[in-house]
Amino acid sequence: MTPRVRFAPSPTGYLSIGNVRTALFNWIFARHEGGKFLLRIEDTDKERSKKEYEESIIDGLTWLGIDWDEEPERQSDRLAIYEKYLKRLLDEGRAYFCFCTPDELEAERQAQLSQGLQPKYGGRCRSIPKEEAARRAEKESHVIRFKMPSHTVSFTDLVRGKVTFDLDLMGDIIIAKGLDAPLYNFAVVIDDEEMAITHVIRGEDHLSNTPKQIAMQEVLGFKTPVYAHLPLILGPDKKKLSKRYLDASLKDFKERGYLPEAMLNFMVLLGWHPTVDKEIVSMDEAVKDFNFKKVQKSGAVFNQEKLEWLNAYYLKNLPADVLAKQIAPFIPPEWVKDEKKFKEVVDLEKERLRHLPDLKELAGFFFALPDYQPSLLIWKGAPKSVIADNLSFVANVVRGIPNHERWSRDAIEKYIMSVAAEKGRGEVLWPLRVALSGKDASPGPVEILYILGKEESLRRIETALGKLDLLQ
Ligand code: GLU
Repeated sequence: MTPRVRFAPSPTGYLSIGNVRTALFNWIFARHEGGKFLLRIEDTDKERSKKEYEESIIDGLTWLGIDWDEEPERQSDRLAIYEKYLKRLLDEGRAYFCFCTPDELEAERQAQLSQGLQPKYGGRCRSIPKEEAARRAEKESHVIRFKMPSHTVSFTDLVRGKVTFDLDLMGDIIIAKGLDAPLYNFAVVIDDEEMAITHVIRGEDHLSNTPKQIAMQEVLGFKTPVYAHLPLILGPDKKKLSKRYLDASLKDFKERGYLPEAMLNFMVLLGWHPTVDKEIVSMDEAVKDFNFKKVQKSGAVFNQEKLEWLNAYYLKNLPADVLAKQIAPFIPPEWVKDEKKFKEVVDLEKERLRHLPDLKELAGFFFALPDYQPSLLIWKGAPKSVIADNLSFVANVVRGIPNHERWSRDAIEKYIMSVAAEKGRGEVLWPLRVALSGKDASPGPVEILYILGKEESLRRIETALGKLDLLQ
């Protein structure tokens, strides 16, 4: 049987890294197995679910290249299906209407706590006759509770091995706030069955929901899928991930200029290790190599330095045209007008990037010469006259690079370096580089000359000579 898995986010906020990691592991498993990866929007919480969040979930997955195989399901479109099953459970006496008020429930809870008991619903409304309960439900506010069986439930988790829970400790959980208002644990059971889900892969925070869901599957005569609970993501101090990270959504990382390639590589290592231990893992490799045996039980530490390192790695190693597209949203649009020039700038600067927006700071001078102090042109106490002579000389050389020699890096290098050899490296290359960039740190002058072109380079050298004139 081909596996069918699902990613089932609730659109009540932007996608967190934990959520996306769940999506990614499901997707990788599906691709590894040649199965199907499905998307289900769990929007039963009417107050907190927002269209905007649903859209950002779709955008985020699309940005990462996590694609789904069937039309996404939305729980709010499936209310009639849940109602049918709720009625069935009520009819069969497997669920019942509960009319207990919040105050009554709280009093019960406090009494249990004061006796040192784990609080659970005591089952007061269980005994109300079915017809009477149905009649009252038409007028009185109510919820629907599932009659929790009292045996134990065991399942073999692909990550955690055999897990056993005592259902008796759970009490009769609320599965709906009314026939048209199902809650998470119940809706999931119906959907996983109807969508023929074979494997449920999700965060460990859902482990305690699994026995409740299995109990309902048993009562409804559904198949129990295979479960795999992914380890919690821990902060650098090995404690539960702090709010600072928890609150950071995929959207934040995207907006701060992380590459999808880096995010994917980072997330795939949050709890999984390739067979051959290494840090750089492409999605193709992960899909080939994926195995739940290599998913750890213990928490996965969120290592921010590793993410920074991976981002710099991918920035450096992506082909310039791919990178140029990623950088485009972060820089002034006019930079991209000359596509060839922009690509060359990206290619030259990519080693220095840590995040996509860094290019703005690093490469602005290619598009407009910044103002700078004339004294910046002076190399280590060399006389101003020497610097000016050298710049004029270089200008002549640049002007004279014969037309039959293409404006190529090699040709420029040959001419400039021969001037530098004759007149002193520092005394030539430093003022030339400053003249071209207006900055005290930048790539070398040959690279800049090549990208700026002859005319613009000569203009900038003229500007530098003008500045030197003003210098005392
Ligand atoms: N809507 C749940 C969540 O976002 C899905 C849990 C599950 O995969 O069953 O956590």
